[in-house]
Amino acid sequence: MIKGFPAVMAKLIKEFSKMPGVGVRSAERLTFHILKSSAEDVKALSRYIGEVKERVQFCEKCNNLSECEICSICSDNKRDPGKLCVVSSPNGVIAMEKANAYNGLYYVLLGELSPLDGVGPRELKIEGLLKRVKDENINEIILSTNFTTEGETTALYIMKLLEPFKIRVTRLARGVPVGASLEYADGATLQRAYEERR
Ligand SMILES: [Zn+2]
Repeated sequence: MIKGFPAVMAKLIKEFSKMPGVGVRSAERLTFHILKSSAEDVKALSRYIGEVKERVQFCEKCNNLSECEICSICSDNKRDPGKLCVVSSPNGVIAMEKANAYNGLYYVLLGELSPLDGVGPRELKIEGLLKRVKDENINEIILSTNFTTEGETTALYIMKLLEPFKIRVTRLARGVPVGASLEYADGATLQRAYEERR
């Protein structure tokens, strides 16, 4: 129990402090902020928290975050269906989209291989990727997993899996700092990494 606060405030502080990067101090500050906010703002906040949880799902085709069964990128017919960019997480899609360098489709693995943590190929959405490679007319797969040990391991693993398909497989060039997640690379760097892919 957080001492000195009315019980309901203590409960909210406890919930906030479960969030990543939020300690008890910040949780207290957020709670005071809520208390000072207008009733309207607080209503909007609580509504969107509920709606995000209720409405956001994984796209059935690419596993990206979406409000519909098929996400807005997969259903955009202005995008090049011959290119498939493979990323580890929805953050990768967001980073690539922000960089504005890519106009193909995506596939999100929802994880990266990490044998030490017990994350093997079964924990990743690899089946769906192979199905798309078989069923669709894809000319190029761009491996855009993170430049971390796990990301590189994952890229190598998928490269091997794709060998029998005789498809062009490229990897983002090393503009992105080693050890970095895509989401921390700035747009220009990602753009260059994409253009210089091999
Ligand atoms: Zn999609």
